[in-house]
Amino acid sequence: MKIIIIGSGLAGLAAGYKLCKSNEIIIFEKDAEIGGMAASYCQSYAGKEYFIEKYYHHIFRSDSELLALIRELGLESKMLWLKGKNAYFVDEKSYPMNTPSEILRFSPLSFTDLVKLGLLVFRIKIINDTTSYDKIKAKDWIIDNAGKSVYENFFAPLLKSKFGDNAETVSAAWLIGRVKIRSDRGTEGEKLGYMRGGFNSLIEALSGEITAHEGEIIKNKEVTEIVITDNKVQGVMVDGNFTTCDAVISTVEPRVLDKLTKGKLGALQETLQKIQYQGTACALIGLEKKLIGDGNYWLNIKADVPFGAVIEHTNFMPFEDYGEHLIYMTSYFQDEKDALWVQTEEEVLDSYLRGLEKMFPDFSRKEIHWTKLFRRMDTAPVYEQGYLEKVLPFEAGPSGLYLAGMFSSTNYPERSMNGSIKAGFESANFFIKKDEGCETCWLD
Ligand SMILES: Cc1cc2nc3c(=O)[nH]c(=O)nc-3n(C[C@H](O)[C@H](O)[C@H](O)COP(=O)(O)OP(=O)(O)OC[C@H]3O[C@@H](n4cnc5c(N)ncnc54)[C@H](O)[C@@H]3O)c2cc1C
Repeated sequence: MKIIIIGSGLAGLAAGYKLCKSNEIIIFEKDAEIGGMAASYCQSYAGKEYFIEKYYHHIFRSDSELLALIRELGLESKMLWLKGKNAYFVDEKSYPMNTPSEILRFSPLSFTDLVKLGLLVFRIKIINDTTSYDKIKAKDWIIDNAGKSVYENFFAPLLKSKFGDNAETVSAAWLIGRVKIRSDRGTEGEKLGYMRGGFNSLIEALSGEITAHEGEIIKNKEVTEIVITDNKVQGVMVDGNFTTCDAVISTVEPRVLDKLTKGKLGALQETLQKIQYQGTACALIGLEKKLIGDGNYWLNIKADVPFGAVIEHTNFMPFEDYGEHLIYMTSYFQDEKDALWVQTEEEVLDSYLRGLEKMFPDFSRKEIHWTKLFRRMDTAPVYEQGYLEKVLPFEAGPSGLYLAGMFSSTNYPERSMNGSIKAGFESANFFIKKDEGCETCWLD
């Protein structure tokens, strides 16, 4: 069977990998490189060439499908489990947040509030099913269970930096999922996974498997329509040309899918228009000197700067792998009117660097080797109250149309590389079962 996959992010590559051995695969990617959100940038400094993700990435021990895939592709020897130290920067001071004793020294909260915070985290850890929390706002749930002061002095700045004006609408299900994964640590702090050579190794291995089985990955080709007649997929339009196929797996964000399907998805079309995505503006800089002196990898920020976190990649991965210090500054934004989207790259970078100068008085622009800014409008669904009802199915309705991506159930209530790989595999399974004549796959 001939299958067209729209998008070469991890969902598209995982689906292509699963199906390429017994089908003809064509992946159309609108960008100049493959990998989507997990794509890397090839940088060289002082004669050393290396890959670094455009947007910071790490993985968790619970990412079982991703880890199994890494093993299957023979990449296990590249896996490293490293301590990723966190801190919370509040009003000009950095508070380490790795161990219970460090958390107890977080002075913006009173001792009573710290106890309430601890009890809340304990409560979250024993929640197994977040479904019933989808209809509750995170803000209300935190205030009800830990009080207003814990909300305002601890969670509110974090929610604001992640969801901007949508911070107060985010569901408790998202919060619980997030805290659960980030508090899965022993008394010594959190260990996070990363691949030597970056996640580019995974993307290269997946695309290599697809092309080795005569699949095609065509870059710089934007699909402009999924052609559907008589409730059946016929093919796609690219550059004004029609390519026929037996099935399409679409991994593009819901509002793009809405445009591509031109009203042929029935009731689902309305849901597509309701799913809100947020954008990310992520700066990456190469530096002569270490920035975060106390060795923290991740700094959440409550301060008057235009980004919500500073991430020093080389406080996590060894400096020797790169020969320079690598720092991300990142902020989410909610719509196309936001300054982070409207301003030129130079303006955004300048505002970020002014923020760094404010936070780190010893930092000087003279120490910068190079700067990059990566930004996209479609980096994550906003997991607002009631989002569960909008999670998209793997089969879209018209025969031969399958969906996989950040909008799938495998990425609820938090999107991840693992969730997108799982979504790609699931969509492939749906195709295989349909191909084998199974009419009741949804019962499995
Ligand atoms: C700032 C940031 C940090 C992150 N950190 C982590 C982390 O630490 N750990 C983790 O597990 N996950 C992390 N993620 C999430 C992870 O990157 C994503 O969940 C995952 O990569 C999404 O894969 P996807 O294939 O579903 O979507 P995408 O990667 O978005 O892939 C979709 C692809 O479709 C292409 N496309 C769109 N429209 C068209 C069209 N019309 N025609 C052809 N192609 C099209 C796009 O260009 C893109 O390549 C992070 C994401 C961001 C943005």
